[in-house]
Amino acid sequence: MVVVTKQLLDAFIACCVGRRDEYAYQRSDGRYARAGCPLTYDVVYRHLQGVQTIGSYLIDEHGLCRFAVFDSDASSGLVDLLQVQSQLAGVGVPSYLEQSRRGAHLRVFFRDPASPALVCRWLLPFCPDGVEFYPKQNALSERVPLGSLVRLPLGVHRVTGECYPFVAWSHGQFVPVAASLADMLAWFSTVLRVPVPASIPLPVADQATPTTPRTIPFTSVPSETTLTIRDWCRQHDPVAMIGRYVALDQKGMGCCPFGWHHNDGVDAHPSLWVYRPSYPDLCCWYCHAWKQGGSLFDFFRYYYGLSARELWSHILAGGHF
Ligand SMILES: [Zn+2]
Repeated sequence: MVVVTKQLLDAFIACCVGRRDEYAYQRSDGRYARAGCPLTYDVVYRHLQGVQTIGSYLIDEHGLCRFAVFDSDASSGLVDLLQVQSQLAGVGVPSYLEQSRRGAHLRVFFRDPASPALVCRWLLPFCPDGVEFYPKQNALSERVPLGSLVRLPLGVHRVTGECYPFVAWSHGQFVPVAASLADMLAWFSTVLRVPVPASIPLPVADQATPTTPRTIPFTSVPSETTLTIRDWCRQHDPVAMIGRYVALDQKGMGCCPFGWHHNDGVDAHPSLWVYRPSYPDLCCWYCHAWKQGGSLFDFFRYYYGLSARELWSHILAGGHF
């Protein structure tokens, strides 16, 4: 048995637990079932002892989140996320690598609880193709009352019977950040929790209500490049790219992130349809409530509240989404 003090538990919970009035436990087939009761110290303690493995809902009772997770199920997950870790470090954001059953997680811990929408705008641009990002929702709604779930670290995976450590890249290999579970728990007192910046460009939806919905023309092509906005749209799969910003079902339906034309500023029922365009048409999304859609370029213009020129400069500068 590992000796776990309340102080150690507090540091762990502050980093890794979202919602406190609800959680889920992992079944023997690896799937999760809603527990229907609060996530107490005792529940976390039993998770760490390997008695029961639990998952935490990222978005808490107040609609805020305390951490974000990049989740790669690829066998190259650790290496892929090491690159993301390095990119984040380049802009002053510390993040922490954790092994997982199939690949890896990269976690970013926040100093204060933050809006999931803000967190997505801030960190999603660092998420490579094929990697999942949590929180998956911009907000909770009637349709999604709990949001996504992420396995709490340092428990025993019910399928493999393994406990996956946090690791660091050292001398050409990944090594656990601590030798024992007790030491890894103590390590949580040392992790850096970063403030979520307040100055991320807001989507148009959060700024002002446009009087007339606009269609963005494809005209802004800088003279020093032969790449056009049309080319750029054609080079990317809109379902995959928009799917990283909006949780889409199998039909490509999801909640529209542009709130201004929805009641109370939130699309409570999925109104956004994302699809692969039939060229030469570039339109790839449509909001049924707004009765308007556009190209992939339009989507990011609205999402980030940028002018066509600003967004195009970002793309030409190698900016990713
Ligand atoms: Zn809409």
